[in-house]
Amino acid sequence: MSSSRIVFLMYHELEIAGRKLSQSEPGYVRYILPLETFRRQMAWIKESGWRGLNVGEALRYPAEPGVCITFDDGCETDLTAAAPLLRAFGFNATFYLTAGFLGTPGYLSARQVRDLDAQGFQIGCHSMTHPYLSDLTEPELKREVVDAKLQVEAIVGHPIEHFSCPGGRYDQRTLQMARHAGFATVANSKFYANSSRTNPYELGRVAMLRDLSIEEFGATCHGRGLWKKRLQHQARRSAQRVLGNHAYDHLRAVLLGNPASKP
Ligand SMILES: [Zn+2]
Repeated sequence: MSSSRIVFLMYHELEIAGRKLSQSEPGYVRYILPLETFRRQMAWIKESGWRGLNVGEALRYPAEPGVCITFDDGCETDLTAAAPLLRAFGFNATFYLTAGFLGTPGYLSARQVRDLDAQGFQIGCHSMTHPYLSDLTEPELKREVVDAKLQVEAIVGHPIEHFSCPGGRYDQRTLQMARHAGFATVANSKFYANSSRTNPYELGRVAMLRDLSIEEFGATCHGRGLWKKRLQHQARRSAQRVLGNHAYDHLRAVLLGNPASKP
């Protein structure tokens, strides 16, 4: 086994001139990159001689330098904007889909999911309705993890092995449910690079924010400065624990000047 560390990048919807975003709240938009910013980041990877890998490829932890590219939520721009660019650069990626969003405005249709799958990209699952999984009762959790998996599998016609947690929230029950459902990995949004020693049910990922400079992007791909993000993240999570998820979202929305939203 190789001991190389790989940073997993987490993207969402991409912003295209003239196209309305699926949601418009500041808490959502800060995770949305303009297509040109995404293109510059992919160019950085290419020019650095690195590879862009999907989760399955990254889990083999190849010795050659690379980053893992993932998308959450299943927005239509996965197919219309991200996929053509990734193909042009010769990269792969994993697209985690929110099963219950498919076919609604701004999100992929079943046909588009099959198209993405047929192009060779990896399809993953991102729950049924995008709740914080750690807040759920057992039957609710089953629907979000097990039923969502079956629904995405029914669309693509083959097993789905990778799951990502909405809002990065999960607990031990979530991981157990995912394991029993047959998922091979679960990705969160904690700021650490992964290696062959990382528990595949606790894969860290770094959220890509729209105001990230290309220098910061490069540092992120190298896994530099993740400890700083980790400290900020821990401070936020402590506030969440004290206030509870709902009150925290409300407070965050007030601070950002708009109703609550989470990508
Ligand atoms: Zn999400």
